[in-house]
Amino acid sequence: MNTLENLISLLSRLPGVGKKSASRMAYSFLKGDEEYNLKLGQSIMELKQRIHKCHICGNFTENDICDICAATDRDITFLCVVEESQDVQMIESTGDFKGFYHVLHGVLSPLDGVGPTELGFDKLVDRIDHSSVKELILATNPTLEGDSTALYIRHILKDHDLVITRIASGLPVGGDMEYADKMSISRALKGRMKFSSDDE
Ligand SMILES: [Zn+2]
Repeated sequence: MNTLENLISLLSRLPGVGKKSASRMAYSFLKGDEEYNLKLGQSIMELKQRIHKCHICGNFTENDICDICAATDRDITFLCVVEESQDVQMIESTGDFKGFYHVLHGVLSPLDGVGPTELGFDKLVDRIDHSSVKELILATNPTLEGDSTALYIRHILKDHDLVITRIASGLPVGGDMEYADKMSISRALKGRMKFSSDDE
């Protein structure tokens, strides 16, 4: 594999990038400005060196604690569980939520070897035990895995004195929060429903 083929193969592994787009990008790098290529390469390299997970919520940050966890004007009684850091950005962009977040960085997926340990559920429970959270909003995506993850979290917290809610289906079923628009997310948040079950 030559240099160009290698780059095309690497680019086509990115989400949403097919072989054709990867090839278009690679040729554009080849014909384009070398300084731009260097800057791009540099920022990809720095990404992992500079950005890590917030010690409290798991959101990506350049500091020990992210800006949201460090904020003093947010409501500590609300905690919103999301799958990915991008979901935090999406919810923040609506301006409707003033509580805190917990980023799982994934969903339960036994076939891929992702279980409660991998998602750090003990950390979530520990966080709830040591905080003043009154409402836990489960904002995992309305997919099969997102729903199972929400159900599992509800199960492990069933004995906690806590209102557990699930975001409404304002999001398209099987949809990904990443692709939903602000309005849908805002509606999903506002229309959240009690998720605590009596039969458990
Ligand atoms: Zn944080």
